[in-house]
Amino acid sequence: MVLDRPGSPLREAELPEPTPGPGQLLVRVQTCGVCRTDLHVFDGELTHPKLPLVLGHQIVGTVVGENRRVGIPWLGWTDGECRFCRSGRENLCDNARFTGYDLDGGYAEYTVVDERFCLALPERYSGLEAAPLLCAGLIGYRSLRLTGDSERLGLYGFGASAHIIAQVARHEGRRVFAFTRPGDEDGQAFARELGAVWAGGSEERPPEELDAAIIFAPVGALVPLALRALAKGGSVVCAGIHMTDIPAFPYELLWEERVLRSVANLTRRDGEEFLALAPQVPVRTVVEAFALEQANDALESMRSGRLRGSAVLAVAGE
Ligand SMILES: [Zn+2]
Ligand SMILES: [Zn+2]
Repeated sequence: MVLDRPGSPLREAELPEPTPGPGQLLVRVQTCGVCRTDLHVFDGELTHPKLPLVLGHQIVGTVVGENRRVGIPWLGWTDGECRFCRSGRENLCDNARFTGYDLDGGYAEYTVVDERFCLALPERYSGLEAAPLLCAGLIGYRSLRLTGDSERLGLYGFGASAHIIAQVARHEGRRVFAFTRPGDEDGQAFARELGAVWAGGSEERPPEELDAAIIFAPVGALVPLALRALAKGGSVVCAGIHMTDIPAFPYELLWEERVLRSVANLTRRDGEEFLALAPQVPVRTVVEAFALEQANDALESMRSGRLRGSAVLAVAGE
C-alpha cells in the first residue's frame, strides 16, 4: 500500500520484491502495527517523507531463507559516529533514518532491513500481539523511564501506547490515572480494566496530585492541563512526534521545579530492555486486525479514537 503524496489515500500496488543490500535482510512481513505517527505522515504533518513511501514501522516478519522471526522498529539506521551516537543517544542521531518514513516500511508483503536494527521478539506473542510492542510499547517504555520513579502516573490519551504502559506501570508498583477524551466512557472503562486506579476526562482534575504524566494524544492543549495536575517537582513527558500548538500558560504551572520534556525515537537498548520486560509483566496487547488492503480504514479508525488498543495489519495471516 503506497503513499504517493500526503493527504491522498494509500494506493494498492504491485511493487518489485525489494533487494537487500550489504548488511540487509529480506523480510516477509507477517503483521505491521499502525501507529499515530503513520497518520502524521499521511496527513503531511511530518514534512520530509521519502515519496512514494510504504508506511509502517511496527513490523513482525520472517527472514527469507531462514526460520527466524524479527521485529523491525522505527529506528532503521544510524551513522554510529555522530556525538549523539557516541554518547548512548542514537535516538537523536544527526543522520538517522526511520522505517516507514525515510525507508520503506511494513504496509507490504516484503521489506528489507539493516540486520543491526532488528529486534528479537519474545516467543509468547503471536504476530498480531507482538506488533504493537514495537512502537506503542517501546516509545511508551522510553517515556515511562523518563518519568523516573513517579508513583502517581497520569496517562493522557488511552490508546495503543497507554494500554501497554498502564500494565507496565502497575507491574512496577505505580498507580495509574487515565485521561481520555471527555465523555469517552468506553475508553475509561478499558483503562480501569487494565489497572488504572482512576479514569476520567482530560479536563478533569485527578483526585490526587500526580508525580508525572505522559501525554500520548497529539493535542497541545493537554500540556497546561497536565502541568496543572502535577505535584511540585513532577514531570510532563510528551511522547508523540507531533502535537498541535501548546497554548500559552501562566509560569506558575511550571514553577516549583516542574519539568516539561519530549521523547524522541528509541535506542536499540530501549528495544532490548522493553522486549525482555514485556513477557515478565506480562503485557497483554489488545489489537484490532485489518487486512493489508484495508490500511486506509485502519488509519481512519485510529483518527476517530474509536479503537480499543492497537490497529494491526495482518499481512500474511497466521
Ligand atoms: Zn549518529
Ligand atoms: Zn510509531
